Amino acid sequence: MNDWQEMESHYLFATYKRQPVTLVRGQGVRVWDDQGREYLDFVGGIASVSLGHCHPAVVAALAEQAGVLIQASNWVYTVPQVRLAQLLTENSCFDRVFFCNSGAEAVEGAIKLARKWGREKRDGAYEIICALNAFHGRTLTALTAGGTEKYKAPYHPLPPGFVHVPFNDVAAIRQATGAKTCAVLLEPIQGEGGVNVPGDGYLRQVRAWCDQAGILLILDEVQTGIGRTGSLFAYQQYGAEPDVMTLAKGLGSGVPIGAVLAKEHCAVFAPGDHGSTFGGNPLCTSVGYAVLKYIIDNDIPGQVARKGQHLERRLRSLADRHPLVTEVRGRGLLWAIELDGELAETAVRLCLEEGLIANNVKPTALRLMPPLVVSEEELDRAVEIIDGVLTKMESAPQR
Ligand SMILES: *Cc1c(COP(=O)(O)O)cnc(C)c1O
Repeated sequence: MNDWQEMESHYLFATYKRQPVTLVRGQGVRVWDDQGREYLDFVGGIASVSLGHCHPAVVAALAEQAGVLIQASNWVYTVPQVRLAQLLTENSCFDRVFFCNSGAEAVEGAIKLARKWGREKRDGAYEIICALNAFHGRTLTALTAGGTEKYKAPYHPLPPGFVHVPFNDVAAIRQATGAKTCAVLLEPIQGEGGVNVPGDGYLRQVRAWCDQAGILLILDEVQTGIGRTGSLFAYQQYGAEPDVMTLAKGLGSGVPIGAVLAKEHCAVFAPGDHGSTFGGNPLCTSVGYAVLKYIIDNDIPGQVARKGQHLERRLRSLADRHPLVTEVRGRGLLWAIELDGELAETAVRLCLEEGLIANNVKPTALRLMPPLVVSEEELDRAVEIIDGVLTKMESAPQR
């Protein structure tokens, strides 16, 4: 343990169980620690560094805007915010955007929007149907919408108005819908819950049910959006347009920014209903614009789809060869490797020793979410390292 790690334990809240690495520099898919060791980064700031570390387009937008105007507040108009909102709406099914600073805030905004919509358009309906194992962020309300009891346990009483049903079960949503329901809130693929991919028809069926019941469909694309699954937004692959969508993570390629997007029919916020001091500030929206423009102009989602198929083949071959792997699942550049037992923490540690940063999304599963600009060679190298780690674990069980 080096000095920074020792000092951290004195000065910071003990909220995080960190890996024993202190990163000081990054470039593309590579990062370096304070000892000069190089790693392949398949965590990528938890799927946020979409264009890789310190991408020239991001650095240029940051540097340029930093010398022009960093923050002005929403008491006035600013240009980059309007440009990014236009680019987002022109490339999605949505009409209006609200900017915030993180994923949890985006979810909060979407929940407030749905409640106001329910109040005005559905006779005061306020209840939101959510999924078990869902993750929507750590503010009190986003936490309540999430489907993991252990994150909620210390914080009762929780805000009322959230109902949880199993993911990938449209009948459960139908059954949970009542006069008080205003919306269904789902991740298209559950990220933090373990990369849970629903059946092909699920989101389409949920969409049809929301139409029939007259309630909103909110998709939380904080993790799946901005090219991660092989289309700009995951909803485009599932053929189910939501009424409201949340974004964050990949939108800034490492710079904090979040967004709530909505179709006109439910864009019910009026002056004073919602706000943020830093939300939509010129610095972060300039970067968001540069990132989104680069991703669209270079068809990064198409590249992700192709690289994802390559990665999938490699991972399926891993699963075929290793008894320790019980399943691989994912789409695009978001994958989980399910292990036969609570072995993910050990696997993460062994990968780290071999120069690969991966994430134990669950005690039993490894998650891979490299920057979208990762090369096939880098994907192959990562799989090779995991291959070696699995072989090691199988020959000398380290439980
Ligand atoms: C990460 C995540 C969030 C929370 O984002 P923060 O920026 O950490 O607040 C919300 N929803 C989903 C689907 C996420 O993956």
